[in-house]
Amino acid sequence: MEIEKAIEIVSRKTTIPNEGESFSDIEEAYKIAIVSMQKDVYKRCAYDKGFYPCPNCGTSTTEDCANTGRCSTCGQAIIH
Ligand SMILES: [Zn+2]
Repeated sequence: MEIEKAIEIVSRKTTIPNEGESFSDIEEAYKIAIVSMQKDVYKRCAYDKGFYPCPNCGTSTTEDCANTGRCSTCGQAIIH
């Protein structure tokens, strides 16, 4: 599902599908919204043998990521 479509569905503030949509489309739109919100909640990277793996995608995050506050791979809000 395109992000624009998910925004349109969530913006309608209803769980009733429009014509051409199904309940699973509504469910997918809300899942996309929740995943997006969770990425904006700061998560601490667990220190592991000199690396700080991203708590969302597992990629090793760098000092640059810590400075920008985002995993450069997935965009998760992080702190070291
Ligand atoms: Zn990540």
